[in-house]
Amino acid sequence: MKLKNFLSIPIFSVFLVMGFVYYITVFILIEDWVGLQTSAGSLNSMIFTTLACLCVLSFLVGVLTDPGRVPSSYIPDVEDASFASDQEPKKNVLQSKYCDKCAAYKPPRTHHCRVCKRCILRMDHHCLWINNCVGYWNYKAFFNLILYATIGSIHSSVIVISCFRQKDWNYSGTTPLKIFYLACGLMMLALSVTLGTLLGWHIYLITHNMTTIEYYEGIRAAWLAKKSGLSYRHPFDISVYKNITLVLGPNTLRWFCPTSTSHLKDGVNFPTLRDTS
Ligand SMILES: [Zn+2]
Ligand SMILES: [Zn+2]
Repeated sequence: MKLKNFLSIPIFSVFLVMGFVYYITVFILIEDWVGLQTSAGSLNSMIFTTLACLCVLSFLVGVLTDPGRVPSSYIPDVEDASFASDQEPKKNVLQSKYCDKCAAYKPPRTHHCRVCKRCILRMDHHCLWINNCVGYWNYKAFFNLILYATIGSIHSSVIVISCFRQKDWNYSGTTPLKIFYLACGLMMLALSVTLGTLLGWHIYLITHNMTTIEYYEGIRAAWLAKKSGLSYRHPFDISVYKNITLVLGPNTLRWFCPTSTSHLKDGVNFPTLRDTS
């Protein structure tokens, strides 16, 4: 448990935004739209509260889970298909997988984080908003967080628009109230588009079994391969379904549970194209 991770302005800001959006959506917008006592009002507030709880849970798991520490006993396997390639001499492969800062070998897909000051297993990126690296052990929680945050933002946007449309502005509308609704609508739409784009990006990465770092490394590798007249394929991209199960788990229902990580192994060995061919 790393409670000191919570001591950061971005984390405090995320809690503030979550609380603000929840209060506005449930206690102002739903109340004003159909009333919290009606069946439509209680159903919408129940759905939104569930989404908010799942968001907070995913956020806490993302912040508190160690993203992946390299085992001190780790020694690279030079014959490992995911480690070496036919073109690279083994000595060079080993050198390229050695972290000078940690003075230790790095397993495949591991990268050194300058903020965390250590190597992180299957590192995706260092996320300011969770004040933690997104790595092997908390990537699923991070994905669940953006999934629930996107659905919640879209739900809230629909409520703002429905509320705005049903009002008879000729009689009940005052200028400050109109500005309030407009500001809420714009804020929720901006959140929906931003989080939706991030969600789309990570769905792309998961279906290709790639991390953000590997995506950019892949662009360079593909360019180098093209120059040599070869083709490049990401070595961990096995098949769409298998890629998804490797990250989210084999049980479809558990894909949506941020604490369900029993499918994760050691974060050191990963199946590659060579294993399946
Ligand atoms: Zn390192
Ligand atoms: Zn980091």
